Amino acid sequence: MSAPFQPGFPFAAIVGQEAMKEALLLCAVDGKIGGVMIMGHRGTAKTTAVRALAELMPVLDVVDGCAFNCPPDALAGLCARCTGDDAPGCVQRRVPVIDLPLGATEDRVAGTLDLEAALLTGKKSFEPGLLASAHRGFLYIDEVNLLEDHLVDLLLDVAAAGENVVERESISVRHPARVVLVGTGNPEEGDLRPQLQDRFGLCAEIVTEAEPERRSEIVRRRMAYEDDPKGFRAQWVEATEELGARVAAAQSRVDGVVVPDGVLETASALCADLGLDGHRGELTIARAARARAALQDRDTASQDDLCSVAPAALRHRLRKDPLETRDLGHRIADALARRLEG
Ligand SMILES: [Zn+2]
Repeated sequence: MSAPFQPGFPFAAIVGQEAMKEALLLCAVDGKIGGVMIMGHRGTAKTTAVRALAELMPVLDVVDGCAFNCPPDALAGLCARCTGDDAPGCVQRRVPVIDLPLGATEDRVAGTLDLEAALLTGKKSFEPGLLASAHRGFLYIDEVNLLEDHLVDLLLDVAAAGENVVERESISVRHPARVVLVGTGNPEEGDLRPQLQDRFGLCAEIVTEAEPERRSEIVRRRMAYEDDPKGFRAQWVEATEELGARVAAAQSRVDGVVVPDGVLETASALCADLGLDGHRGELTIARAARARAALQDRDTASQDDLCSVAPAALRHRLRKDPLETRDLGHRIADALARRLEG
């Protein structure tokens, strides 16, 4: 399913996979949630969904030709080329979705500092990497569990800081890199190290649809799209625009959405009940619940938001019990039910 993808299958036309779609939408609304891990088998629309998500988002204003996606109206943090009076004009661009190929080197990802040029000319010479291209958008890592640990570490650090710093000897270059990481993994190919796994904000598990009617609907839409991509997309234009408008509205209102004390207390109690260390779990629940309320055009997050986001916010933070055969989401739902009853 990682074939070239233009024009794409619309997000709104994806059948089922509600948990994955919600996790992606929440991260699109609030990048500070910290990205999504999507665990599932091949051929389950993971790639399709990520590409389609970017298409939903409002286009970006960027300085024409800038390799760092500088926003023209920014007062600070612009690259050297975009600073100053004779900076090029502004263009509109789609939110970038940058693929991180499995064999990518650290230079390719973070960018390369040309030390020799710097020593000869006294000027820093920096070749931007994938993190610069992904600024203000998504960095998509298919099979993140097969990526070298040090690269995953680097990506998570940059995503958390919103800035990429490249240092060689005594020279350093930094540039903004606000990226939402979307990693996919096939559970049969091994887990991500636990220390890395729990640094993703959300983790959605996807399953192959079992219900025959929904399965046939998936095939029907897939065939219709493959036979006539343009015509198929035209049928979904309205739904796509509607969803896009919801995301844009949610982005602008999310910071003002209130998370009531009661919701925060339930989140903390739930994390304590589940024996989670640190506070990343409840922080993620609070952010995700807020984003969900914003998506539904509400000013206050509810217990219902909490219940909906908790499995994705906590699943990858639980200690695995080798005797437990059910999906970890059930353990979270059970703990939540006990907590809300008691
Ligand atoms: Zn720039």
